[in-house]
Amino acid sequence: MKICVTGGMGYIGSHTCVELIKNNHVPVIIDNLSNSNKEVLNRIETITGYRPKFYKLDLIKEERLDKIFKKEKFDAVIHFAGLKAVGESVKKPKLYYGNNIGISVILLKVMRRNGVKNIIFSSSATVYGVPTHVPLVETDPIGEATNPYGQTKIEIEKMLMREHEIDPSFNIVLLRYFNPVGAHESGLMGEDPWGIPNNLMPYINQVAVGRRECLTIFGNDYPTHDGTGVRDYIHVVDLALGHVAALKPIQEKQGLKIYNLGTGKGTSVLDLVKAYDEANNIQIKYQIGPRRAGDVAENYADATLAKNELGWEAKFNIVEMCRDSYNWQKKNPNGYNVEPSEK
Ligand code: NAD
Ligand code: UDP
Repeated sequence: MKICVTGGMGYIGSHTCVELIKNNHVPVIIDNLSNSNKEVLNRIETITGYRPKFYKLDLIKEERLDKIFKKEKFDAVIHFAGLKAVGESVKKPKLYYGNNIGISVILLKVMRRNGVKNIIFSSSATVYGVPTHVPLVETDPIGEATNPYGQTKIEIEKMLMREHEIDPSFNIVLLRYFNPVGAHESGLMGEDPWGIPNNLMPYINQVAVGRRECLTIFGNDYPTHDGTGVRDYIHVVDLALGHVAALKPIQEKQGLKIYNLGTGKGTSVLDLVKAYDEANNIQIKYQIGPRRAGDVAENYADATLAKNELGWEAKFNIVEMCRDSYNWQKKNPNGYNVEPSEK
């Protein structure tokens, strides 16, 4: 299939492009590089031998987007583009509503105008709100967003559900990701956050290569097996393969489908640090700090539906995730290492 990959230069999008190419699909990337780097294209080409077509464009530019759609005649869209920093969304809610929801409205309009009725959307476990139980199942209700970023995911999901109600021939797959980590085994692609990382794995990576001195563990008094927060970490390549698998209900015109993409296993912060140390034969320096506002004790997926319906299952374990994360960071201590001005 010829697939429009919005946000395809980003962390998850770039890994998905590689797996799409390996599975004989043709990704065409649209990205404004607001949180990514043009070097990613070279890396995709080195890994796959194929350089995807790339349009540098802010999706808010409806006319230009429309022209691309008219020219390319896409079969489907995978919609990764969006801002994703929870903390920033609390400080700049309008930026998040305007960007994430705004571009999704425009994308849908352009898709409709050009007769493209197939979309896979990057949603998140955050749509469940504060979990009342784990594991989380797709039939659990959408909860109350705990921050503006989460609110945008809920609103976009609802907008897409509504689109399917209005036109049942619109095929939509909502993929609710848990905690993506890891990197391509080549060490050529990985997560490259600007500034101080908010998430656990990129922070550990930067401690490992000496860019940060010490990890602060946010609380060790949660009701979990060791007191630290438990999450469902999933290797980004497994996640990428989840998107390839999600093309099945699209191709079979199954209408609206929703899947959790996680491993179904909970790992605590201390478990992760221990796995990282073991996988890479190093010792991550850490200290215990206070809880982070808004954090929950435990969050992990029931991923049985994706297994049963898509034939997809996460294959990488936590040690492999830590190995590949470090391999990427070790080979690229400063990430893609191109200044924003060079983009
Ligand atoms: P990322 O920031 O690496 O990738 C997103 C890409 O979208 C970036 O390349 C950015 O430049 C681009 N983009 C943003 N706004 C744009 C716009 N207006 N026009 C064009 N391009 C634009 O993030 P990621 O980790 O790869 O996440 C991809 C998607 O998955 C996001 O929608 C994110 O919310 C969602 N998600 C991520 C996680 C996670 O932990 N990484 C978890 C759940 C869901
Ligand atoms: N965490 C931590 N120190 C950090 C970053 C995160 O202890 O510097 C903890 C956090 O409290 C949570 C887990 O690691 O229990 C995963 O956090 P992350 O932000 O990666 O994912 P999320 O909380 O959004 O699921």
